[in-house]
Amino acid sequence: DELPTKEALKKAAEEAHAKFKDEKEGKNADYIPALAKVPSELFGIAIVTADGEVIEVGDVDYSFSMQSCSKVFTMCMVMEESGAEAIFEKINVEPTGMPFNSIKAIEHGDGRADNPLVNAGAIATVSMIKADSPEQRWKKISDYYNLLAGEELKVLEDVYVSEAETNFRNRGIANVLFNSGNLFCDPLEATDVYTRQCSVGVTTAQLAMMASPLANDGVHPVSKKTFLKEDEVPKVLSIMTMAGFYDGAGQWAWKTGLPAKTGVGGGIFAIVPGKMVIVAFSPPVDQYGNSVRAQKAIQYIADKFEYNIFDED
Ligand code: GLN
Repeated sequence: DELPTKEALKKAAEEAHAKFKDEKEGKNADYIPALAKVPSELFGIAIVTADGEVIEVGDVDYSFSMQSCSKVFTMCMVMEESGAEAIFEKINVEPTGMPFNSIKAIEHGDGRADNPLVNAGAIATVSMIKADSPEQRWKKISDYYNLLAGEELKVLEDVYVSEAETNFRNRGIANVLFNSGNLFCDPLEATDVYTRQCSVGVTTAQLAMMASPLANDGVHPVSKKTFLKEDEVPKVLSIMTMAGFYDGAGQWAWKTGLPAKTGVGGGIFAIVPGKMVIVAFSPPVDQYGNSVRAQKAIQYIADKFEYNIFDED
């Protein structure tokens, strides 16, 4: 069926912004020290439709670190490079029901990480990119992200340094995966490149642009470039549904019914298949590391248009 008009989408986004801008629940993540310094009141919403319209409301010029939202894009890149089955075989596609940085994600089965959207699996995903050097590994990711965004994105160096200085847990996870043959490059290299991709700065509209092929059968609505094969898109969306919110995934599916991915920097993108990407950003996060205002805003907009993948009519 038809897309709502640009005006109707803008109105819904404005209503969501007004309704939740004074929401006081949640607090900035501070285990990455730089994230604690991002102004908590920032709140932006962007929508990119499957026909390439862009709607923006609120603090839409602020570049926040995409953090775990990046995990989806690198997974897409590996699917294109090595086939979707490579993700299934070398990582796995099971939800963890555990926090994003859980060590249990490598203890459930045979030593593989449970899925590409928790830290363990995301670091393994980075290690699957075919590259001869750390520089090349990073450049391939960076070039791919820029292509998705349609412009050059920058690493927020303060966020990168802050996480690189404190990411002992991720380094440990990478070492354990490597030890069991489930990480495919040097573990420190994988962790470092992963930390860099998490530190890429995006505005809400840039993040929506990056995710837009997932709402349009793998084709970017603006550049018209094919980023994913049509039959790979549902696979990406299935993993997002199971694992995009970690141990909060069930609640999110229950309330919203949209595949989505969050980052601890406060960004969330949700996919309405075939229709649009809805992004919201606000730094205060809940106990699972998911932005409180962003969840509410996306839920409001999705409800307003009755978007829910479990309720097609
Ligand atoms: N870079 C962060 C980490 O590894 C990403 C976590 C997140 O966004 N949930 O801890």
